Amino acid sequence: MPDSTPLSPSPAGWRWDHSYSKLPAAFHTRVDPTSVREPKMVIFNEALAKSLGLEAELRENAALFAGNELAPGAQPLAQAYAGHQYANFTMLGDGRAILLGEHIAPSGERFDIQLKGSGPTQFSRRGDGRAALGPMLREYIISEAMHALGIPTTRSLAVVTTGETVYRERGLPGAVLTRIAASHIRVGTFEYAAARNEKPALQALADYTLQRHYPEAANSETPYLAFLEAVIERQAKLIAQWQLIGFIHGVMNTDNMALSGETIDYGPCAFMDAFDPRTVFSSIDRHGRYAYGQQPHIAQWNLARLAEALLPLLHDDEAKAIEIANEALHSFEPRFKHYWLAGMRSKLGLFTEENYDPALIGSLLDWMQQTKADFTNTFRDLSSTSSATLSDDPAYLDWHQRWQSRLSRQPQPWNEVSEHMQRHNPAFIPRNHKVEEALAAASEKNDLSVMHQLLAVLARPYDHSQDHPEYAQPLSSGSYRTFCGT
Ligand code: AMP
Ligand code: MG
Repeated sequence: MPDSTPLSPSPAGWRWDHSYSKLPAAFHTRVDPTSVREPKMVIFNEALAKSLGLEAELRENAALFAGNELAPGAQPLAQAYAGHQYANFTMLGDGRAILLGEHIAPSGERFDIQLKGSGPTQFSRRGDGRAALGPMLREYIISEAMHALGIPTTRSLAVVTTGETVYRERGLPGAVLTRIAASHIRVGTFEYAAARNEKPALQALADYTLQRHYPEAANSETPYLAFLEAVIERQAKLIAQWQLIGFIHGVMNTDNMALSGETIDYGPCAFMDAFDPRTVFSSIDRHGRYAYGQQPHIAQWNLARLAEALLPLLHDDEAKAIEIANEALHSFEPRFKHYWLAGMRSKLGLFTEENYDPALIGSLLDWMQQTKADFTNTFRDLSSTSSATLSDDPAYLDWHQRWQSRLSRQPQPWNEVSEHMQRHNPAFIPRNHKVEEALAAASEKNDLSVMHQLLAVLARPYDHSQDHPEYAQPLSSGSYRTFCGT
């Protein structure tokens, strides 16, 4: 941010700045984390700490990551926002999260440091402001897996237990997650600003977000339109990346869509096993609003809510503003399709472009859906040999022949094709049963070794030489359900 105050380094490598707190007062409220009884470090992300310029000794300081102690220079606040939850508009805000401030990494990049589960705020309503250990470790595992897969995501620096019990359907060990994000500005933050009907505050938020995440848009003659288009572009790419690895977010409410283009708010998310666009894991998503195949459509729906919020900045004449917004929104689909098709070509080792590629890809997906083929392993297995080893089903053999003749029309030899495919088709994703196994060992037996083993495998998802068949197998039962991370 160009207008940031000079930074003073503080112990342990923290370099705090607080640009968000300079937004109009409606966007945030000062609040301190509530101390917990007995903070204990459960897991600390040394590699991430290092990349942030933070000292490894922080691992010893559970009190800091529980919110019992504040790093010198931190200025805790809760962010106000709104959101459409399952299409219903609500005023929300950080009900159980507290932003300590922004840390400036040695790279010069600015990161939000947020404690999640750190006690009540004025936005908590009936909630306790707390989080349970299982869901916080789950966010840690999945966000770190997403990072290793090369997908923009918030990350996890530490999880501590609180020594307190949180009450959900039953009593559970309480925990606090330290989340690192490019920012926590959400589509819902803009909806909040728009709902308050104060154009200067909306404009301040837009200017701030544009400067922080899309500084190139400032040079445009129509900066807010350029900003909207850039957000659409980044989301189109992000959702294509999700689709290409079978990631299902589970709760794509507008408050869970970040303007930075990072994946955020891991609740009932999971990776698809058998390919089926209707796949839903969230126990509360009864109508499949956030099913795998719906994600591009929902992203566009959420972006329409962002565009609506931005209308007063797009043009003084509302009808004209709507026209401008609609035109921008219509670009989502072609942008998404572009990234999806390019990604699918890579998954199938296609270096060149032919008109029939979408049909070739479509036939494979149809066959996968009909035969309930595992999404990850089908592409993994296709990457390893040019022979038709997956099935003796005539439909598959026919497809395989078409694919092989397509490959023969490009100059690259098979070993090059195979390498390219292996770089785009993960061999390892966080298999639901492996995640549950790691969480059970950690929460019920205090045994973190299972989670560490899982994290080690997931840190190299494209390393097909890792010999861990048990981490690559789906569990045959197709009825996996996750429960919202509260
Ligand atoms: P989420 O479903 O995690 O995206 O949260 C939706 C909203 O509910 C956000 O405003 C959260 O801050 C709030 N929330 C979730 N869990 C709690 C809790 N245990 N206490 C207070 N607020 C919560
Ligand atoms: Mg959320």
